[in-house]
Amino acid sequence: MCGNHQSFDAYAFSKQPGFDEAAVRKEFAKAVPLKTVVVYCYDPRIAQVPRLVAEEFGQTHPGEIVTDGNGSKIASTTNVFEVCVAGGRAYDALRSVTVAQHLFGIENIVIVHHTHCGATSFTKEGIIDAYNQEHGADIEQLYPAESICISDYTASLEHDVLLMRDSAGTPKHANIYGYMYDIDEEKLIKVAQSLAV
Ligand SMILES: [Zn+2]
Repeated sequence: MCGNHQSFDAYAFSKQPGFDEAAVRKEFAKAVPLKTVVVYCYDPRIAQVPRLVAEEFGQTHPGEIVTDGNGSKIASTTNVFEVCVAGGRAYDALRSVTVAQHLFGIENIVIVHHTHCGATSFTKEGIIDAYNQEHGADIEQLYPAESICISDYTASLEHDVLLMRDSAGTPKHANIYGYMYDIDEEKLIKVAQSLAV
C-alpha cells in the first residue's frame, strides 16, 4: 500500500451526508440514455467496434459529455457502453452487464468476436502449462475452461450468448446478440442471438 494519500471520500456518492441510494440511482438513470452494452476484445485493431455497433443499432457512440453550470461532467448522450476484454468473451462481462442494468437500464447486449484474434493463438492447456512453468501458478480452476480462449468462433459466440442469457444478473428483457467482426473488411456479421421473450 502507498502511504500519505488523501481521503477520496468526497468523490464517493455513498460517503455523502444523507446519502439516499434509491434517489442517487434515479439520478444515474437520467444521466445516460444507455441502451446497449457492447462486449469486445481489447485488440487495438478493433477500437472502432463500439461505433459500428452503434450504427448497426441506430444509436449514439461516443456521444457527448454533458456539463453543469460549474463545468462538472455530469452526464453523457451515448447509448452504448463498452466492456473491453480479452477475446470479447462474455464471462469477463457478466458483472458489468448487471451493474449497467442496475444503474441505467439496458435493452441490448452485443458480444463481438473478431478475425485474427489473439485468443485463438493459444489453447487452454498451453496457457495453463505456461503459467505453471513461468509463474509457478495453477490457473486450471481459475476460469471456466470454455471461456479461456477461442478455438471455434461460431461455437464461442453461441456459447457466450447462452452464458450471458443464463446469468441471473442479465435482465430477461434484454436482447443478446453475437457478432463476428472482420477486421480487414471492417464488417459486423451476426452469428447468434437470444431475443427477449
Ligand atoms: Zn482479439
